[in-house]
Amino acid sequence: MSLPEAFKERLEKIVPPEQFNSILKTFDTPKQVTFRVNTLKSTPQELEIELTKANIPFEAVGWQTTFLEGVYRISPEYKLALTQTDAFYSGRLYIQNLSSMIAPILLAPKPEETVLDLAAAPGGKTLMLAGMMENTGWLSAVELSRERFFRMCDNLKSQGVTNAHTYMTDGRSVGKKCPEMFDRILLDAPCSSEARFKTHEPKSMSFWSIHKVKETSKLQRRLLLSAFDALKVGGKLLYSTCSFSPEENESSLQHLLERQGEHLKTLPLTLPFDNIQKPLKQWGKEVYDERIQNGVRILPTDTIDGFFICLLEKV
Ligand code: SAM
Repeated sequence: MSLPEAFKERLEKIVPPEQFNSILKTFDTPKQVTFRVNTLKSTPQELEIELTKANIPFEAVGWQTTFLEGVYRISPEYKLALTQTDAFYSGRLYIQNLSSMIAPILLAPKPEETVLDLAAAPGGKTLMLAGMMENTGWLSAVELSRERFFRMCDNLKSQGVTNAHTYMTDGRSVGKKCPEMFDRILLDAPCSSEARFKTHEPKSMSFWSIHKVKETSKLQRRLLLSAFDALKVGGKLLYSTCSFSPEENESSLQHLLERQGEHLKTLPLTLPFDNIQKPLKQWGKEVYDERIQNGVRILPTDTIDGFFICLLEKV
């Protein structure tokens, strides 16, 4: 199945023109599989021994020294073997795309802090937050979908997370219930998941429409306002999506800055790879706040999914 025509037309206006064709190809080919060691249960050294014993050829991802230890890649044909290892069953490793790992890394929670993951299931980033907090402090994980909530609870349990408090509730209500309570908040927002489209998996894009993008943007705006209310002064909020649509990225942040801009600044980000693009300055008639330029659009490759990230601080 080919990508939706309207999506392609929009993408061409968003990504750098010289990269458009190579980006289109990334939707056709299976990505390399990446995973990381679960530091609550194992170490990079122990996991490497397990992988070698299981005859799985792996390569360490080059940025672990500056960002995170124990991140690996394997080619897709070894994915089945990886999921049959005891390390996988026992939660000593977690399969996750590199761009998803970047969000917790940049939010950088510390042990003993109060942290909120406002749209958390299936919990891949919550697990990483718990690892970075060394299972201390207070980690709230909120998820609205019942089915996804229980999947997240299973994941947290099997991966040895003990500092998480899970809530099956609407993230839009959290700000009013818990004003200025959290040091750090991750809003990995529900989105149209455009960066997860795969032409060999028609289901991945069957729900997409411009109407859906606009509806999702409305939900994101309300979640962002809720996150702002729940954040302590001096606290940090990381907003991310796996969509390319400006309505779900720059426009959602613009809405927040128009309402709470005098209490917010954005922070510059350093990433360990160069397949990135600055956020758009304008989309249609909407001209965006200059502060949004501190965000980053991660462009997809054969390993990394597309992603949008912006880090804000309440001042
Ligand atoms: N951070 C997760 C991870 O890395 O595993 C992925 C989160 S996914 C992009 C967004 C999640 O938000 C979905 O599980 C969706 O069910 C949930 N969601 C949608 N609307 C919500 C709401 N109003 N409040 C809380 N969660 C919501």
